[in-house]
Amino acid sequence: MEQKQVAVIGAGVIGLSIAHELAHAGHAVTVIADDHDPRDCSPLAGAVWFPYGVSLDADVIELSERTRLRFEELADASRGIARRSGRFIVRLPETDMAWTDALPGKRELTQEEVPDGALGGFRVTVPVIDMSKYLVWLRAIVEQLGVRFERRLINDLASVEADVKIVAAGLRSPELVPDAEPIIPRRGQIVRLENPGLTDWYVDDDAPGGLTYVIPRFDDIVCGGTDDAGNADAEHDPDIETGILERVTAAMPELQGLPIVSRGVGLRPGRSEPRIEWITDAASPTIACYGHGGAGVSMSWGCAERVADMVRER
Ligand SMILES: Cc1cc2nc3c(=O)[nH]c(=O)nc-3n(C[C@H](O)[C@H](O)[C@H](O)COP(=O)(O)OP(=O)(O)OC[C@H]3O[C@@H](n4cnc5c(N)ncnc54)[C@H](O)[C@@H]3O)c2cc1C
Repeated sequence: MEQKQVAVIGAGVIGLSIAHELAHAGHAVTVIADDHDPRDCSPLAGAVWFPYGVSLDADVIELSERTRLRFEELADASRGIARRSGRFIVRLPETDMAWTDALPGKRELTQEEVPDGALGGFRVTVPVIDMSKYLVWLRAIVEQLGVRFERRLINDLASVEADVKIVAAGLRSPELVPDAEPIIPRRGQIVRLENPGLTDWYVDDDAPGGLTYVIPRFDDIVCGGTDDAGNADAEHDPDIETGILERVTAAMPELQGLPIVSRGVGLRPGRSEPRIEWITDAASPTIACYGHGGAGVSMSWGCAERVADMVRER
């Protein structure tokens, strides 16, 4: 294999996973990213594995499934990854649940496990990723593979020297590569509670009061949420937090009174579908990999494998 100099723009879950796969394949990889922009959302992700907020086409399902299998292999508390059983609530007859068919431990919920007004739901076992631990671990193993990191803002891809450039800059990617499709911020607000030892997660997408989810990590519990398309306000809203706490405690009364340990707002990089392709009109070979909406963690390894294949096949 010919070793290439590859520059990855972005150090979120997508950029780091791509850097891992390319370095593992023997390429000389540099990750370039600026720091702490409120539009960077990987640290905010819940993160429970499932293809949320993306079109459920065959490609998305395949990339998600490849990612799930990687997380299953990697599952370990020291990496921030656990395999956890939880409930997915179904309220609308048209809800597409085909993506759950291959999941371990799948069974229909009993009447007692379903909130009033819901049609039913499923219990499945999937990876849960504590991003506060996982991103630290992922960056460390990427560094061990010899990947270099540069902290700087890229305003123009021409300022980057490399045989191949990968744009994995999340919501800000279209500032670097032209895109005929809009990328839309989808605001998500969360509040984290102290975890007395809960492990069961709960997701109710279409709850009457709004998106409701509870994701116990190791030390805390991520409670959400919102998915407000077109809203790029990264400020915390106390009224929204009150609503989230009302919804999650109604769904899981055992959360009542648990201390709040932290809170956050993130902007999901919304697009009709993730963009993973060569940019044909770029001055030098460039791949776009962004627009993963609410499923960037859930698709990360599958996308990274795909990008590594594209570089190898060129
Ligand atoms: C509240 C919330 C809950 C979520 N829950 C889940 C979940 O449960 N499961 C799931 O799969 N997903 C979840 N998501 C979605 C997930 O977080 C995103 O899809 C994913 O993090 C996108 O990753 P990314 O690497 O593409 O972008 P980002 O994490 O935004 O990273 C972008 C990177 O690009 C860099 N960058 C951008 N522009 C430039 C530039 N011009 N120059 C230099 N560097 C630049 C930034 O510094 C950053 O390093 C959630 C999101 C939110 C907000």
